[in-house]
Amino acid sequence: MITRRHWLTGTAAAAAAAQTIQGAARNIVVASSNGLRACARAMEILKGGGDTLDAVIAGVNINEEDPEDDSVGYGGLPNEEGVVELDASVMHGPTRRGGSVAGLRGIKTPSKVARLVMEQTDHIMLVGEGALRFAKAYGFREENLLTEKSRLAWLVWKRSLRDAGGHNNWSDGLDAPPSKATAELRRMFPGVSDELLAYAWDRAVNPPAGTINCLALNSKGEISGVTTTSGLAWKIPGRVGDSPILGAGLYVDQDVGGAGSTGRGEENIRVAGAHTIVENLRHGMTPKEACLDALKRIARNYDNDRERLARFDISFYALRKDGAYAGASLWSGAARRGQLRPRQFAVNDGDRSRLENCGYLLER
Ligand code: ASP
Repeated sequence: MITRRHWLTGTAAAAAAAQTIQGAARNIVVASSNGLRACARAMEILKGGGDTLDAVIAGVNINEEDPEDDSVGYGGLPNEEGVVELDASVMHGPTRRGGSVAGLRGIKTPSKVARLVMEQTDHIMLVGEGALRFAKAYGFREENLLTEKSRLAWLVWKRSLRDAGGHNNWSDGLDAPPSKATAELRRMFPGVSDELLAYAWDRAVNPPAGTINCLALNSKGEISGVTTTSGLAWKIPGRVGDSPILGAGLYVDQDVGGAGSTGRGEENIRVAGAHTIVENLRHGMTPKEACLDALKRIARNYDNDRERLARFDISFYALRKDGAYAGASLWSGAARRGQLRPRQFAVNDGDRSRLENCGYLLER
C-alpha cells in the first residue's frame, strides 16, 4: 500500500532526479562502430568552434557518400525492387528542433535534406516523392544510388529466392543443363571476381542492416545528433525503419543528452528507444543503465524468449550532457568470420577516434 508519506517522498525524489543534468561539458563525439571517420571529422569541427549539428552531419556525410559503405547513402543495398531508399533524421539541441526524411530516392545525403526540412519548412518529416521534390527544389542532384556492387548483391539475392518446389523464375530455365549455384553465378557474371561474388552471396543470404548514428557534445554543453541509413536490405518498397523516427532512431534533449540506435528498427519503434533512453537519463540513470533498460523493454516484447530474440540484434548509443556516454547491444557479440566479436561503438574525445565495447543484455 502506498501511504501519503511514501507518495510524498517518492515524488520529491523523482522531482530531484528529473532536474537538468549538470556538470562540466567537453567536446565529445559518439557514433555506431562504422563511425570512426565520422567522429574524427565531427571533432575537428567542434575544435574549430563549429556547431554540433554541423559537426555530426559533416561526419556522417563521409559514410553517405562512400560507395563502399553498403548500409548508408550512395551504395546502400536496395529494396526488393533494386531501388535504394534512404531514411535520416537530425535533432539540434540548442534550438530544440528536428527534421527527417524517409523513403528518399536518388539523393546521396539524406541527412542534409533532413536538416533542410528542419530549417526551411514548418514540418518535421517528408517522405518519398515529396521529399525528393523538396530536395531538388533546394538544388540537390538526383542520381542513381545503386553501385555495381549493390546491384550485383541484389541480383544474387533475387536468384537465391525459391518457391516451395525450389523454383525461381530468375534462375536458369528448367531446360538448362544442371549446374551448381556457384558455377551458375560465375557463368552469369563472367567478369566478376570470386571475391565479389562471395560478397554478393553473403549479402543475399544474410540480409544485412546497417546505419550510422552520431551524437556530439561541445564544451558549451550543446548537443545534437543524426541517424542516417539505407535501412533493411531487400525491404518492401516504402518500408520505413526507426532511423527517421524522432524518439526511436534518434532523440536529443538539450537539458539532458541524446541517444540513437542501429539494428532492427521495427523493435526500436515499438519501445521508442531513443526517447526512452533520454528520459531514463533525465531520471538519473547512467548512459549504460539507460540503454540496457530500453533493451529490456525489447526483450520483454518477446517474453524474454532467447530463441526469438536471437533472430536479430539492436544497439543503442547515449551521450549525456555532462559528457558521460555508453553503447549497449541486445547481444554480447556478433559472429564475424567464424568468430564471436563484441559489438562496439566509436568515440572521439579530442584525439584519435577509438572503438569501445558495448555493454549488453544477453550473453551469446
Ligand atoms: N535501424 C535501421 C533500420 O531499421 C537498420 C540498421 O540499423 O541496421 O532501418
